[in-house]
Amino acid sequence: MKTGLVILGGGPAGLTAGIYVARARVQALLIEKGSTGGQMAATEWIDNYPGNVEPVYGYELAQRMESQARKFGLEIVNKDIISLVKSSDGFTLADDAGSRIECGAVILATGAAPVKLGIPGERELAGKGVSYCAVCDGPFFRDLEVAVVGGGDSAVEEAVYLTRFATKVHILHRRDKLRAVREIQEKAFADPKVVIHWNCVPVEIKGDSEVRSVSVKSTLDGHISEIPVGGIFFYVGLRPNNEVFRDLVELDSSGFVLTDDKMACSIPGIFAAGDIRSKILRQVSTAVGDGATAAYSAQHYLENNI
Ligand code: NAP
Repeated sequence: MKTGLVILGGGPAGLTAGIYVARARVQALLIEKGSTGGQMAATEWIDNYPGNVEPVYGYELAQRMESQARKFGLEIVNKDIISLVKSSDGFTLADDAGSRIECGAVILATGAAPVKLGIPGERELAGKGVSYCAVCDGPFFRDLEVAVVGGGDSAVEEAVYLTRFATKVHILHRRDKLRAVREIQEKAFADPKVVIHWNCVPVEIKGDSEVRSVSVKSTLDGHISEIPVGGIFFYVGLRPNNEVFRDLVELDSSGFVLTDDKMACSIPGIFAAGDIRSKILRQVSTAVGDGATAAYSAQHYLENNI
């Protein structure tokens, strides 16, 4: 199968690229491994995406973007792409079922996934109280105490969200200052159900068929204490979903894709957009901007080179 452009990933960056190229009548295919929307769809509400006076639900925004892309005629398929290689006149992608797709240009919009701390109990109790998605799993923790690890936007925002279900939410943060933006911090400070434990890190999650407690170590004096919780949510940063192309394009030291301001990567014909890019601000609004720019650049590349 030969196509003009393949967009890898169906989060806000990929869907926006899809809207732009479909509208410009570029022959394009968007390939998504799971469901569209990426991390945006797993976010309860988004209140800094311009044009929405009231917060918008992440999954709703994702659905709207997908419908808009389909309206313009974008083809969206579900496939797990396992390789991307350069060919004589473009690129070849292969999926896990052995089928191949030839194309003239690619936009990488595969996003990023939550980092795992790798502490004892984290893997063993995954799905039994250990979670990386409050929106997906929050309702399971009704009337229980839970812990949230991290001090960034995600940790603090999701901690506040979890107060809908949990009786108490313990934020475990390794420093004495939150990284989250002021507005999100203020919500947490104002919520009587949120308790912030400063200068500490989780060292072990204990439980049997479900999480029972978390052992927490002070980063100041090494003292270890135990907090009884029924669940623990990790928000300690993002790792790039770069497995398919990490040996093909240039990456920064953390594994995010380096691009120029046209979203072009180190290999002509490959562009990147959204959280997978090396950049300072990972937001729906910045992903959308990247997606539009990458679409424009890919369209021009195809017109001039293929
Ligand atoms: P993040 O900003 O990288 O924050 C990660 C947090 O985890 C930091 O507080 C960090 O502590 C802590 N941490 C990292 N490694 C740790 C370790 N080994 N042990 C204990 N704690 C550790 O990640 P994020 O909150 O997931 O956000 C990712 C991106 O999405 C950011 O650009 C963020 O602005 C954006 N985002 C935006 C919104 C919004 O605007 N509404 C919502 C969600 C996410 P330190 O602070 O000490 O480094």
